Amino acid sequence: GNFIPPIKSNGGNTGNVTTRVAGKSDDASDDSAKRCLEMLCGPDGELPEKLRNLEPRLIEHISNEIMDRDPNVRWDDIAGLDHAKKCVTEMVIWPLLRPDIFKGCRSPGRGLLLFGPPGTGKTMIGKAIAGEAKATFFYISASSLTSKWIGEGEKLVRALFGVASCRQPAVIFVDEIDSLLSQRKSEGEHESSRRLKTQFLIEMEGFDSGSEQILLIGATNRPQELDEAARRRLTKRLYIPLPSSEARAWIVRNLLEKDGLFKLSKDEIDTICSLTEGDSGSDMKNLVKDASMGPLREALKQGIEITKLKKEDMRSVTLQDFEDALQEVRPSVSSNELGTYDEWNKQFGSLS
Ligand code: ADP
Repeated sequence: GNFIPPIKSNGGNTGNVTTRVAGKSDDASDDSAKRCLEMLCGPDGELPEKLRNLEPRLIEHISNEIMDRDPNVRWDDIAGLDHAKKCVTEMVIWPLLRPDIFKGCRSPGRGLLLFGPPGTGKTMIGKAIAGEAKATFFYISASSLTSKWIGEGEKLVRALFGVASCRQPAVIFVDEIDSLLSQRKSEGEHESSRRLKTQFLIEMEGFDSGSEQILLIGATNRPQELDEAARRRLTKRLYIPLPSSEARAWIVRNLLEKDGLFKLSKDEIDTICSLTEGDSGSDMKNLVKDASMGPLREALKQGIEITKLKKEDMRSVTLQDFEDALQEVRPSVSSNELGTYDEWNKQFGSLS
């Protein structure tokens, strides 16, 4: 779902936006770009200042691939993380809902960093923020900016912040932000990634000082790679740890209940939790997926053909299915890594 197609370096549409909107389109992609631009025009039919002189294909890419009008995640979908939810509600959601109250002394920071092991719900939190605050959600993976958009990253960043400012309130979620704002030695740093980083910091500075309702959320599994400038701009830094035992139980129950497959006793759930110490939320999801294949595999083993299989032919998911699945699904985070997060959290994290 996060695939970002590389763009052609030639043959692309390079006309300026104003002429392109007015101009005639000659193929489907031009039509699509034109529609995206029309949607961003103000009531007077004019494109906002910030979007002029940006290439239509970049604006189109932002509108079609990066912008998500309905992220469809709510707080209730996220297991545990009560502390993070509370901080984020106060710091981000209330200010987005009531900008009139959150000004002056109460004016919120515009940069939030979510750090911690992979698969712990950082992206889910970003989407939930946008969902709860009724904001437009923009998702971009920083590594795609540096790998797939070589030489064009700066322009894409400008287009991203430009479109976000026309879609306020907006939440820009930058995954793997360390690959964009890392503290590499300047001589080893490529000229292009240095320019990209500078452009990004300039854009952040721009909306930080203004009255725009844009929040930037950076997510990283490698917070120690961020440099001082990045830390300064991401004023609130929240540790998103591995799920607790209760949160793991919640994930199992929630996923199985959604499919009407939940028949486990309290003791069985407790056993699953004790066997999954150190698993991330995403490991738990994979485990449930694998365990729920158990009844299907067994029915097929008994000779029922897949095309004739009925739901009633399958037993419910058992503890044994989880024990079998655990042979396949191993925790993706090592305890060494956890030590690094704790250290960084003590030094730079927002503990309250
Ligand atoms: P991250 O951004 O931290 O790498 P994600 O938010 O993309 O992780 O989570 C990956 C998947 O793992 C989610 O789609 C969800 O199914 C599951 N998951 C992770 N953490 C949680 C959680 N706290 N509650 C419920 N599901 C979770």
